[in-house]
Parts: sequence; structure tokens; C-alpha cells
Amino acid sequence: MTADNAHCLVCKRTSDEIPLISFRYQGSDLFICPQHLPILIHDPTKLAEVLPGADSFEPADHED
Ligand SMILES: [Zn+2]
Repeated sequence: MTADNAHCLVCKRTSDEIPLISFRYQGSDLFICPQHLPILIHDPTKLAEVLPGADSFEPADHED
């Protein structure tokens, strides 16, 4: 994936439309917009369809 076709992995918007935050996962450079970043942080299971394995992310230090 190049910067030219970078898009939020959830809503598919590009950096022409919204700021994108890049991150690496399983060796790939991926992008997510500020609107969807909190989902990646707090509720990654919702991203399992677009981010393989996200349903098994677990906090390193879980507190209820
Ligand atoms: Zn998005």
C-alpha cells in the first residue's frame, strides 16, 4: 500500500478527506482516521472483519 491510496480501514476515506493515522500490523502499513481510532483502542473486536485477529486483542493490563 502506498501513501497515494492510503485510506481508513473502516470508512475507506482517504487523506484527501480526513487526517489519517498510520500504524503497522502483521507487517503491513495500515491507516485509520481519528473517528475510528477509538474503536481500535477500546473495542477492536468490532474491527475483526477488516483487521484479522482483532477479535483476540486483549489489554495487557486489564482492569474492570
Ligand atoms: Zn474511518
